[in-house]
Amino acid sequence: MYDIIIIGSGPAGLTAAIYAKRAMLNAVVVEKDYMGTGQISVSERVENYPGLYGVSGYDLGEGFREHALALGTEFYDGEAKAIAKESDYWAVTFSDGRVLEAKAIIYAAGTSYRRLGVEGSEKQCVSYCAVCDGAFYQNKIVAVIGGGDTALGDAAYLSKIAKKVYLIHRRDEFRANKSLQAQVNAVENIEFILNTTVTKVNGGDKAEELVLNRNGSIDTLKIDGVFCALGSLPNTELLKGVCSLDSFGYIIAGEDGATDAKGLFAAGDVRTTPLRQVITAAADGANAVTSAENYLRSL
Ligand code: NAP
Repeated sequence: MYDIIIIGSGPAGLTAAIYAKRAMLNAVVVEKDYMGTGQISVSERVENYPGLYGVSGYDLGEGFREHALALGTEFYDGEAKAIAKESDYWAVTFSDGRVLEAKAIIYAAGTSYRRLGVEGSEKQCVSYCAVCDGAFYQNKIVAVIGGGDTALGDAAYLSKIAKKVYLIHRRDEFRANKSLQAQVNAVENIEFILNTTVTKVNGGDKAEELVLNRNGSIDTLKIDGVFCALGSLPNTELLKGVCSLDSFGYIIAGEDGATDAKGLFAAGDVRTTPLRQVITAAADGANAVTSAENYLRSL
C-alpha cells in the first residue's frame, strides 16, 4: 500500500511528487496520458513563471517531469475510473480493472477543454490546440473563438502562420490580461469580431464556413480552419459523491487542499481557487503534500 496516490501529472501532480519524494513518502503518480504534463504542454510561451521568462509550456512541463524523475518518482499509466474510501485507506480503480491502494490521495487531474457544442463543431478539423495544429494553416484564413488568455495567445501565435486571423468573441470586452490585449491589438492580420457567437460550422472533412450570430443578425464567414479557446471544465466526474464539489464541478478545498473527505486532497486547477496558473498549481501540489503528511501522522 502506498502512502499517497497522486492522480494527475501536470504541474500540480508533478510538484506533489517532488515534495512527496523529499518527505520520503511512498508515493506514485498516476498519469492518463503516457508521459503527459497536462495542458501546459500546449502553451506556446509562458511569460509569468518566475525565473523562466518566455519558456515554452512544453519545456516547462518537461522540466517538472525531469525533476520528479531525478528524485526517483514512480509513475503508473492508467485512467482512474473510481475512487473509494475503504475503512482506513483509499482504493483507486482503473478503466482496465486494476486497483491501487493508498492511505491518502492527492487529486490533481486538472481540467479539459470546454467544447463549442454547435452543429458541425465535432468535426476533427475543429481544433482545441493552436500550438498542435497551427502549422497546417500556413497562409490560410483561420478563426479563433474566445476572449481569454488562451484565445488571445492563440490568435497571436496563429497570426505568424496564417494569412488572416479572425478573433471571434461573444462580448465586446476581453477577459484576457491587458498586456496580451495590447499585443494582439497591434497585430495587423488579426481582426476582432465582437458581440458575436458561432452557431454552426459548415464544411465537409474540413471547416469551410462559420455561421455567425452578430448581435442578432445572422451571416457567414469563410475560413480554412477554426480554433476554440473557450476555457476549461474540471475533470471531477469520478468524485461525485466522494467529496463536495461546487456548482461548476470544482473540488471545494482551501489552500491546504483538504477536502471534506478525510485523506483526500485537491491540488491545481481542479480546486476552487481564484487563479488557475502554473504557479498556483505548483504551489497547490506542495501544500497538498504537507497536508497529506500531517494526515498520515494522525493515523
Ligand atoms: P477563460 O479565461 O475561461 O476564457 C474562456 C473564454 O471563452 C471567455 O472569453 C469566454 O467568454 C469564452 N467562452 C466560454 N464559453 C463560450 C461559448 N460557449 N461560446 C463562446 N465563447 C465562450 O479560459 P482560458 O483563456 O483558457 O484561461 C483559463 C485560465 O488559464 C485563466 O486563468 C488564464 O489566465 C490562464 N492562462 C494563462 C496563460 C499564461 O499565463 N500564459 C495562458 C493561457 C491561459 P466570456 O469572457 O464572455 O465568459
